[in-house]
Amino acid sequence: MEIAIIAHDGKKAEMVQFLNEQRDILQRNEITLVSTGTTGSKVEKARFQVTKFFSGPLGGDAQIASRVAEGKCEMVVFFRDPLEKHPHEPDIFMLMRMCDVYDVPLATNPATASLLFAALDGKLG
Ligand code: PGA
Repeated sequence: MEIAIIAHDGKKAEMVQFLNEQRDILQRNEITLVSTGTTGSKVEKARFQVTKFFSGPLGGDAQIASRVAEGKCEMVVFFRDPLEKHPHEPDIFMLMRMCDVYDVPLATNPATASLLFAALDGKLG
C-alpha cells in the first residue's frame, strides 16, 4: 500500500514524530511512503525509506494528486499548517479535491492520521 506524506514547514517535526510512533505499523503492513521533497528529506534523516517528488511549492502536491487520480496512492497524510499562507494553495486544494473525488482517505492532523493507521492495522474492529 502506498501512502503519501506531506507536512508544511511548521508541521515537519510533528510528521517525523508521527512516523516514529507508527514505525511498527508501517513495517507490519508493508507500507510504501511517497512524499513531497523537503518532507521526504526530513523523514529520510529519521531512517525511513521514502520516494521523494518535487518540493510542494514546485509541484510536489500536484504530483501526488496525480498519483491519487491514477489509483497509485491509497492514503494521504497531509499535516497542513493552518497558521501560514502558502503560494501553492491551489495545488493543496487540488490534492484534497482529488482525495474526495476518488474517495481516498485523507488525514490533515495527527489525531486523524493515528485513527487511520490503527484502522489499517486492524485495530479498529
Ligand atoms: P515540502 O512541501 O515537503 O517540499 O516542504 C510540502 C508543501 O509545502 O506542500
